[in-house]
Amino acid sequence: MKKKNTPHRILWILLAVIVLVLFWAASEHRLRPAYIGIAKLENKIKGIDGISAASLAQVKGDARRHSRMIRKGFGLFGKAKETPEENSDDFVELAEAVPDAILEIRYYSTYNFVGTRIDGYKQPTALLTRRAADSLRAVSDELLALGYRIKIYDAYRPQRAVDHFVRWAADVTDTLMKPYFYPDLDKSVLFDQLYIMEKSGHTRGSTVDLTLFDMATEKEVDMGGTFDWFGPESHPDFCGNPVMGLYNGDNRKSPAGRSINAEQFANRQILREAMLRHGFKPLESEWWHFTLADEPYPDTYFTFPVRNLP
Ligand SMILES: [Zn+2]
Repeated sequence: MKKKNTPHRILWILLAVIVLVLFWAASEHRLRPAYIGIAKLENKIKGIDGISAASLAQVKGDARRHSRMIRKGFGLFGKAKETPEENSDDFVELAEAVPDAILEIRYYSTYNFVGTRIDGYKQPTALLTRRAADSLRAVSDELLALGYRIKIYDAYRPQRAVDHFVRWAADVTDTLMKPYFYPDLDKSVLFDQLYIMEKSGHTRGSTVDLTLFDMATEKEVDMGGTFDWFGPESHPDFCGNPVMGLYNGDNRKSPAGRSINAEQFANRQILREAMLRHGFKPLESEWWHFTLADEPYPDTYFTFPVRNLP
């Protein structure tokens, strides 16, 4: 094309700039999960300790500079790909697929960190993709032979539930459940320390939160902390090395000097090792959270509610 500085050409450039600015404004908030994804990655590289506000800001800056690349993963105009609400065809109910599992769906109840039923939980049931459920069945069978059942707290989580968490986290005055789930943390740090994010792996349908139930004692196995405890005490490497399976008692990360004992660490390892043997991958911040490594919908965020399937 010939280079001509005609008034027409200037108008076109102006129009392009306006479109770009509008595009940026519309997609900016959708990029937050990408910033956080990169922040988490950097966090993983650096180690488990919480990242400082300055390093988070720098990571966000880097993410912005690479927004073109990041947006690729989020579809056209930076919008996350979302499957229509009714498209739950590839999901199964865990009560059917893993009949030995115990279900305790915390987000259907008021016993969770918010303190109310979470949006999108229409029935106290747990759904997963068929592939993830099949792997979980293998985990359950193996653990049952050792005298344990798995107890499911959450599995597929619709986007509206994640949105509910985000709204709750933004209201720093609502600390109803602080004594039970985050007594050592100021609620205002929940976003920056990545406890609450605008996207969750659970919405992709192949992630599950669970613990062990001991058939001999008829009690939940003592993991040295509760599901959804916000703090370094929930990290699989708290007081030990989960890869080597070695307890070391190092509790320096705990702001309140909390600790777990060798048996509690070993109990977390029983769950972790069974999950990893059957194709799940762990999360560095939550001992109860696992995602199928070969998940069938790595880029899809589902929106249909949690309820029994038709
Ligand atoms: Zn989880």
